[in-house]
Amino acid sequence: MAAPAGPDSVANRDAVRAAMAAAAADAGRPVADLSLLAVSKTCDAAAITPVLQAGHRDFAENRVQEAALKWPALKARFAGTRLHLIGPLQTNKVRSALALFDVIHTVDRPKLAARLAQDMAALGRRPDCLIQVNTGDEPQKAGVSPVDADDFIVQCRDGLGLPIIGLMGIPPVGEPPAPHFALLQMMARRHDLPALSMGMSADYPQAIRLGATMIRVGSAIFGPRPA
Ligand SMILES: *Cc1c(COP(=O)(O)O)cnc(C)c1O
Repeated sequence: MAAPAGPDSVANRDAVRAAMAAAAADAGRPVADLSLLAVSKTCDAAAITPVLQAGHRDFAENRVQEAALKWPALKARFAGTRLHLIGPLQTNKVRSALALFDVIHTVDRPKLAARLAQDMAALGRRPDCLIQVNTGDEPQKAGVSPVDADDFIVQCRDGLGLPIIGLMGIPPVGEPPAPHFALLQMMARRHDLPALSMGMSADYPQAIRLGATMIRVGSAIFGPRPA
């Protein structure tokens, strides 16, 4: 779990924030419309703590179990922390996810959506949700296919009454990301969804130009992850 944390993570976070502000200014967008999610997967609590101490409050994890081991104590110590789930969610982990996460970015199939609606009602906790779209239609990747996305969005929001605020996407590795960002932006506009979770360490300035409101940045803050 140990990642190269070090004193650099805070300086790195500041550098990413500055680049984020520059990209927003270029795009003529208010930087206040953007959130920087620090992706802390594989980092242990000691690696994450300096960034929390520096005042950062938005963090993202891709595994429910890993997050459940380290975040309850950190959330108790640092008030106002918002934890985002950006990895696949299995239906048998929905209850733990609802208890721990403040935003769920990976709603991507009817069975999961139905379980979320059911468990939200049971637990009385309704974290904001985003629908993950598999813009590249990659078979190994999570996310609803673009051809099914319109129906799925309507079903989640209007059928099940889920608190859907936007869309999330991960462009295929090795392809220019811009067309994928543009597709997500178009889809979100069509459904009047305000949030767009897109852009990672390698491509967040482009994502900001194409309307991202939440960028998910890991290695540019915490350093390279163990393979
Ligand atoms: C790991 C991860 C990121 C962060 O990737 P970096 O390239 O390290 O910035 C962003 N989004 C998702 C879904 C991830 O799993």
